[in-house]
Amino acid sequence: AKNAGRGQACLFEAAMDETAQARRVLERELAEALSQGSFELHYQPLVDLGSDRVTGLEALVRWRHPELGLVSPATFIPVAEETGLIVGLGAWVLNQACRDAAAWPADVKVAVNVSAVQLRHRTFAQVVLLALAASGLRPERLELEITESVLLDDTEANLETLHLLRRAGIRISMDDFGTGYSSLSYLRRFPFDKIKIDRSFVKDAGQATEAGAIIRALVGLGGSLGITTVVEGVETEAQLAAVRAEGCQEMQGFLFSPPRPIGEIRQMLAERDRT
Ligand code: C2E
Ligand code: CA
Ligand code: CA
Ligand code: CA
Repeated sequence: AKNAGRGQACLFEAAMDETAQARRVLERELAEALSQGSFELHYQPLVDLGSDRVTGLEALVRWRHPELGLVSPATFIPVAEETGLIVGLGAWVLNQACRDAAAWPADVKVAVNVSAVQLRHRTFAQVVLLALAASGLRPERLELEITESVLLDDTEANLETLHLLRRAGIRISMDDFGTGYSSLSYLRRFPFDKIKIDRSFVKDAGQATEAGAIIRALVGLGGSLGITTVVEGVETEAQLAAVRAEGCQEMQGFLFSPPRPIGEIRQMLAERDRT
């Protein structure tokens, strides 16, 4: 029995070795990808529900891998955060997004996701301001999306950075709102411009369940605080109707459009302005 146990331990170690090795390969490939320009941004429209027009585009990064094809950020962002590569990758995303947006109609904003590691880094505010200066994009057209986890640690320093950027005219959105433990207490501590109600609340919003009541309450809360509310992950007409009925100002989701490459976005914006 003792021997069998040891055999298992060896197998386990071998498996661990393999994972650790695969992980090292991934880390190395990610670093190379950044220096070789293998990342690209796709953009997903945010639609104003008053005018039914596209008024914003969220930048969502993808990795064009030679063998794997287009790799989802869910796979590599966590690794980039652990290795610190997110600082360089995040700076690239900010610069590319600002440059892309500078060529769009002036009423279209660009939203960029910011991870905790990035915000905490001492150069973050400077990186953002330089990206704006280099692209010529007005600060009012840049929205930074942060999740609650971003504010969990180092809260005071993080809030200070966000205040500095907000004073410069940049907008700050709270992403995935309602999924954390203290979303509400952060609303009290920081003057967000926008809250993005997490997609988990929209799933059965069209079916007169608690989710609809929660969206209604959050929209009411946002309204009384002067915060724009967006619902993300709208996939069906029924969900859109429910989101409209609750008084939400903006929507984002596959129903209108999935994230698309920049060429398709340019075409979409050109068509928008022809009609
Ligand atoms: P997120 O910021 O919450 O972005 C929304 C995600 O939901 C995107 O996934 C989008 O494609 C997906 N989505 C949009 N509409 C729908 C819908 O109607 N139904 C469903 N089921 N999904 C929808 P994506 O592009 O895979 O990004 C995943 C996450 O990766 C993002 O979640 C964000 O947290 C992170 N991420 C993406 N780009 C960046 C980046 O440049 N920097 C950082 N730090 N994180 C990023
Ligand atoms: Ca986001
Ligand atoms: Ca989100
Ligand atoms: Ca998310």
